[in-house]
Amino acid sequence: MTYDTIIIGAGAFGLSLAFHLAQKAKRVALVDRFHAASQTSARAAGMFKQIQSTRTRTQIAVLSIHKLQNFEKETGVAPPVFGIGSLMIARNPAHAAYVRREVEQANAWGANVELVGNAEAHRRMPMLETDNLLAAAYSADPFVQEPTELLRAYLDACNTHGVTLIENSPATSINMFKNEVRGVTTVKGELDAPIVIDAAGAWARAVSLTANANLPIVPVRHQLYITHPLMGVDSQMPMIRFVDSAVYVRPSRGGLMVGGFEADPMPLDPRSRENFSIEQMPLDFSILEKQTTTIQDNLPALRDTTIQEHRGGLFTMTRDGQFLAGPIPNVRGLWALTGCNGSGYSSSLALGQVMAEWIVDGEPSIDLSEFSPVRFRNSNLTDKELTAACVWQYAHYYDPTT
Ligand SMILES: Cc1cc2nc3c(=O)[nH]c(=O)nc-3n(C[C@H](O)[C@H](O)[C@H](O)COP(=O)(O)OP(=O)(O)OC[C@H]3O[C@@H](n4cnc5c(N)ncnc54)[C@H](O)[C@@H]3O)c2cc1C
Repeated sequence: MTYDTIIIGAGAFGLSLAFHLAQKAKRVALVDRFHAASQTSARAAGMFKQIQSTRTRTQIAVLSIHKLQNFEKETGVAPPVFGIGSLMIARNPAHAAYVRREVEQANAWGANVELVGNAEAHRRMPMLETDNLLAAAYSADPFVQEPTELLRAYLDACNTHGVTLIENSPATSINMFKNEVRGVTTVKGELDAPIVIDAAGAWARAVSLTANANLPIVPVRHQLYITHPLMGVDSQMPMIRFVDSAVYVRPSRGGLMVGGFEADPMPLDPRSRENFSIEQMPLDFSILEKQTTTIQDNLPALRDTTIQEHRGGLFTMTRDGQFLAGPIPNVRGLWALTGCNGSGYSSSLALGQVMAEWIVDGEPSIDLSEFSPVRFRNSNLTDKELTAACVWQYAHYYDPTT
């Protein structure tokens, strides 16, 4: 079969890009080695965030939030249920200065974030004890109550816009003529297209290697849990990010969801495990348990809980903490959409749109050149050095200043 574009990987990135390409009347094939939306994206916390490290990332975050709020108008599909509100809090002087700086910078870049006093933080999140807070920033960032719902909505939108979804069909190679892409071979047969996008998440490096292209990403584990229902939780309470603990909390299914960034995280390359799928991720609850003790004084409700779900998946980290999105050098027709660095779920709405503009029109409405794979063209890091740099980015996700 012949298509205009083939996307490898039907996670948040692949689904959003497929919809946006189809919206531009392109014939799109979306292939996945398992069921669509079954891997890392289905395990996300579903949180959006306007405070970002660069102007471009802020533009992407703001556009994503706008697209979530206007989802039905754009896709014709009912949007996922989402809550609104986000508190970023600092409990030491260095982080208070950091939060103030971030607020100023985010607003200068087009976000809408305000510093609030402790009483206001407590009013917005009554379960939060605020005596020891030294700074708090509030913004109307949304969080999707059930993260699978946004993926389902994009699947429906892909369906109604004529995307050909081919599941349980691993791409085994990207087909080339000289240095130009011709299509993809899957276990179910060959597909032809002049443009192929590698959106294969934790497998993206393996996929691009079949075209002799090196995508320097390192998959790193991330985990969260959800408690059973707790007294006082309201689904419209804001999420909270504790900068010093690198822990986030949000209402979920009547209880609280708690996720944490590990100081000594675990990289896991699927290439090292035959037939790996995210269900086989080794999880370690003791790490989250320890992280929870660091926030219990502020959230006493977390002192005595039982757990309804513990889950985890793989972030695709880059050594500079930025997405890997754009044309891959030296392989005409091959593009990457990966390097999520922990915010691929929320960014996928905008990145799908802007990448589609770049691929089809050549002119994206937001300049994504800072995410382009070109920046790593001359990298000569060993895999060991790359892993160390990516692990550092993961461990400093909430506080890149230390
Ligand atoms: C616990 C947790 C919480 C998170 N919370 C948030 C959050 O609150 N906000 C946020 O923005 N981000 C969050 N993230 C990050 C977010 O989940 C990722 O950034 C996002 O899911 C990445 O999407 P993806 O499409 O790259 O990956 P995936 O969802 O893993 O999709 C990749 C797809 O490629 C397919 N594939 C692989 N190899 C092949 C092949 N050879 N052929 C065909 N298909 C192939 C896979 O089967 C898979 O379906 C969280 C992640 C975790 C683990």
